[in-house]
Amino acid sequence: MGSKGSLFRSVWLALCLLFLLPLTVEASNRLDRIEMGYDRLILHFSRPLERSAVRHFVLQGKSSVRYVFDFSDTRLGSRSITRGLKYSSSRVRSIRASQYRKRTVRLVIETPEPYAIGHYPLSERNYAVVLPKGTNSIKGLFASLSKRKTKGPQRKANSQTPKPSAKTAKSTKKKSAKKADAKRATGSKLMGEPGIHLKRRYTVILDPGHGGHDSGALDPSRRYQEKRAILAIAHWVRRHLKAMGFRVLMTRSNDRFIKLHHRTRYANRKHGDIFVSIHANAVGRLSRARKVRGIETYYLSPARSARARRVAAKENSIAFKKYYKDSMNVYLQTLTRSKIVLSNKLALDVQRSMLQDLRKHYRGVVDGGVRPAPFWVLVGAEMPAILVETGYITHPTEKKRLYDARYEDILAKGIAKGIARFLANREREME
Ligand SMILES: [Zn+2]
Repeated sequence: MGSKGSLFRSVWLALCLLFLLPLTVEASNRLDRIEMGYDRLILHFSRPLERSAVRHFVLQGKSSVRYVFDFSDTRLGSRSITRGLKYSSSRVRSIRASQYRKRTVRLVIETPEPYAIGHYPLSERNYAVVLPKGTNSIKGLFASLSKRKTKGPQRKANSQTPKPSAKTAKSTKKKSAKKADAKRATGSKLMGEPGIHLKRRYTVILDPGHGGHDSGALDPSRRYQEKRAILAIAHWVRRHLKAMGFRVLMTRSNDRFIKLHHRTRYANRKHGDIFVSIHANAVGRLSRARKVRGIETYYLSPARSARARRVAAKENSIAFKKYYKDSMNVYLQTLTRSKIVLSNKLALDVQRSMLQDLRKHYRGVVDGGVRPAPFWVLVGAEMPAILVETGYITHPTEKKRLYDARYEDILAKGIAKGIARFLANREREME
C-alpha cells in the first residue's frame, strides 16, 4: 500500500470522527438554565435528574473553598449559563458551570470561607444548591425584583378600565394625564387603605388548595367541601388585590387538581413576590367538631409543634414520591433565618388583617394564631410564602360562613390588605 492508501484511510477516519463526534457529546440530559434564587441556585434540567447523576465534593484551598457538583450524562445548554447571576461578592467569589467532560457538566461555587452547603431536588427536573447566607440578601432580592419589573409605567387599579376608542382618545388624553398627575401626588394609594403606599406593582400567587378528585377536608355531612370554599375565597382575594393594583395569578381558578410541587414551581416561574396558599381546616375526631374553630396562618419552618404537625400532615397527605419526602428534611435544614423571618412577618400581617376585618362584622371569630409548620406546598417557593387555614369546615358555624359570599368577601379583603401591609413595611425597611 502506498501513500494513496494511507491518505484514503485518514480521510475515511476523519469522516468517521466527524459523524461520531455529535454522538459522543450527546447526553441524555441538558442543563438549560441556572437561576439565582432567594438563597440558593436553581438548576433547570431538560429531563428528570436521577439522584445517582449528582456527585458532590469539596476542594479546600488556602484562601478559598470550592464546592464542586458533577452532573453525569448531562450537556451544558449554553456556555454563558452562569453569566447573568448576581450575588454578593464578599460571600461568593465565583459561580461557574462548564462541560467538564463530554458527558459531565461541572458546577463550581467558590467561596472565601466554608459554609454549610446543601443540595436537593426541588422537583424532577429542578435541582437546588444552597448558597452562603447573605449571598442574595433580602434587600438585594427586593431590589433585583423591582429592577426587573418596573419596566414601563406602573399600572394602577383604574388602568383596568377599557381603553377609549380612537375617536374619544384625544379628549380623554388630557383628562387621564391630569388623573395621572393627581395619582403621582398621592402615591399609589390603595383602595380602602389610605395608609398604604406601594412603589411598584407586585405579583401575588394565590393557591387554592386541593381541587378535582381531591376535595380536601369535608364536614360530617360531606356537603361542605374545603376545595369549593377556598376556591371562592381565592377568587375574592384576587378581586381585591386587583382593585389595589396588584398582578394576581392563581395556581388553579377552577375545580382542577394540581400537584403540590407544581404549585410552587408555577409561582417561581411567574416570578411571584408573594405566595399564599388557601385552605380550610378540619378536626380529626368528630366529637370535637363543635369545639374546634378559628383562623390560623402558617409559614414554612423546621420548628414543629404537635398541632402544626397534625395540620401539615393533613395538607401534605396527597401522595408524592418518597424521593421528594426525603428531600423535605434536607430542605428544611437549609432554610435561612431571613427567609423564615420574612414569611413569618407576612403571616402575622395577614392573620392580623383577617381578624380585624371579620370581627367588625361577625361574632365568635377565633384567633388560632400564626404558627410554623412543615408544609410541602410551601417548600421550594422562592418568595415569602404562607398557608392560610381560613376556618374549620367541621365546625357547624364556620362551615356555613365559609360558604357565605359576604363572609368570604370580608375574609378575602383581610388577606389582601395584609399582603399590602407586609409589602409596604418591606419597602420602608429598604429605604
Ligand atoms: Zn387543605
